[in-house]
Amino acid sequence: MAVIHRRPSVPVNVGGVMVGGNHPIVVQSMTNTDTADVASTVNQVMALARAGSELVRVTVNTEDAAAAVPRIVDTLHQFGVRVPIIGDFHYNGHILLKKYPDCARSLAKYRINPGNVNIGKKHDDNFRTMIEAAIEYGKPVRIGVNWGSLDQALLTRMMDENAKSATPVDAREVTLNAIVASGLLSAQHAEEYGLSRDRIIISAKVSTVQDLVDVYRKLAPQCDYALHLGLTEAGMGAKGIVATTAALSILLQEGIGDTIRASLTPPPGGDRTEEVIVSQQVLQSLGLRSFTPQVTACPGCGRTTSTFFQELASQIQTYLRTQMPVWKDSHPGVEEMKVAVMGCVVNGPGESKHANIGISLPGTFEEPVAPVYVDGKLFRTLRGDSIVTEFTTILNDYVERNYAVAETAQVAGD
Ligand code: SF4
Repeated sequence: MAVIHRRPSVPVNVGGVMVGGNHPIVVQSMTNTDTADVASTVNQVMALARAGSELVRVTVNTEDAAAAVPRIVDTLHQFGVRVPIIGDFHYNGHILLKKYPDCARSLAKYRINPGNVNIGKKHDDNFRTMIEAAIEYGKPVRIGVNWGSLDQALLTRMMDENAKSATPVDAREVTLNAIVASGLLSAQHAEEYGLSRDRIIISAKVSTVQDLVDVYRKLAPQCDYALHLGLTEAGMGAKGIVATTAALSILLQEGIGDTIRASLTPPPGGDRTEEVIVSQQVLQSLGLRSFTPQVTACPGCGRTTSTFFQELASQIQTYLRTQMPVWKDSHPGVEEMKVAVMGCVVNGPGESKHANIGISLPGTFEEPVAPVYVDGKLFRTLRGDSIVTEFTTILNDYVERNYAVAETAQVAGD
């Protein structure tokens, strides 16, 4: 694992998952189903949890959604899925948390957006009501500022003060300062109402990379609250993934961020779990956590005209990922394994020797053989039509030999 000096923060217990302090950076995600539709939401939460999401947020936007939350949590428990469920509240959270106590009880955390609960106006009763619910039910909250719904009264006041200042800054700077101030002031109010620091997480989300980096660099040194990190409305496809990765990587490398979410827009009918995989991959690529064995594959070039090695790399990657839910418990440490699938002799043997297991496929005009390397040494040379099957067998044997929990340990743990 990479050694990165994490910013000190007060750890928060979110339904049994620790966020902040020295705990591993937590991956979270959010459903896009109608929360009132219990079956669809349960199915998606299960898919997200299976993909590795350690916390899952659902919107609680209506009375029907609030009424559905306890049924969602109960059903998940019946299926043995214990992932903590977070409620995302906007505008009416104070009403829903009071009117639906079972919802308030079932949720592991409440997300409060200070820009739309009336904080900053004359009274902050709604915000206070939500904090009092968190205290009553023993729940943490995330104070989640988003520049798309920034407290306008606060922003206007700070703009006015800036205009009168002897050294005014530009509007962007004031806006970023207002986002930070909104989070910190709300957290301060929450503490004044009796919520302890170990029940508060803050996020300050914006939608461009440089703004996100600047806003968290401002926020992080001003507090020791655990921080939720994410580029909001990152977008679709390569744009969303690259922007999220760029923003999160800069901050994580600086030790900022205790839990992350990739806010990707899936294509119509697309797979919501992509956001979990992207978050995991960001953390694993930075060497901060390991989730699944990594496949090193060359990009391919004119030396290999066949797509065979691309197909093999894809099959191996998919195989490893689908095995992980089983291997996670039965073969601890396998997530650190490195597999190389290379397209020709130029870099194939070298890269394969650096992996735990590597295969170098034959390029154009090369002898049709595929040497397999295990722990840096030539293990076997495969040929013919059964290369994929034989390589998978070698891979499985390696996993069994190196990562299986010893039988005695399993018995002792039973
Ligand atoms: S390993 Fe061979 S096939 Fe792959 S990119 Fe390099 S030269 Fe091309």
